[in-house]
Amino acid sequence: MEFIIATNNPKKLRELERILNPLGIEAVSAKDAGVKLDEVEETGTTFAENAFLKANAAFKKTGMPAIADDSGLSVDALGGKPGVYSARYAGENATDEDRNNKLLEEMKNVPDEKRTAHFTSSVCCILPDGSKLAVEGICKGKIGYKPVGEDNFGYDPIFIYNNDKTFAQMTAEEKDKISHRGESLRMLQEELKKYLEEN
Ligand code: IMP
Repeated sequence: MEFIIATNNPKKLRELERILNPLGIEAVSAKDAGVKLDEVEETGTTFAENAFLKANAAFKKTGMPAIADDSGLSVDALGGKPGVYSARYAGENATDEDRNNKLLEEMKNVPDEKRTAHFTSSVCCILPDGSKLAVEGICKGKIGYKPVGEDNFGYDPIFIYNNDKTFAQMTAEEKDKISHRGESLRMLQEELKKYLEEN
């Protein structure tokens, strides 16, 4: 089954492809489908609302079934920030490095036991008949004191899983097994199976 993946973020696209392909889902990027997906304004107040806005816009534009992930990092000591603003946390033209530095600065006086945080991945899938499947995965961890690791997708270098490694120190396979996005996409697989059996 072919699905258009509603993201312009190449790093996220790679993660989604990596997890969806073994599930028998062919993840087609907007570029490969020959369409330009405009940036959808993420006006929702929850990850789920924003995932729906993105998936639905891609479905409307292409007529193809669509999958979108809206994700982000919620830090307990910051009252859940950056949350749905994770991508825009340090302003529009900021880099991942800028966002990590801003977060580390805000956390500089926070003691170890209060540095808890979690990632959320809310995935919305619009099926060929226009109906919607929605799932959400979470991964709990802690914010480190400095960026550690090679891979540098988003907040990966400052998010420590299981008091051990940052996401940026893990292999792709290690991360997929325990990450918020791995969890949400495995849930989606189950939901898709049920849908296909019933339809
Ligand atoms: P959006 O879902 O495109 O609005 O952006 C989500 C933002 O959250 C990304 O740009 C990253 O900064 C951050 N994010 C989401 N998932 C991850 C992850 O697995 N690792 C690191 N950062 C992430």
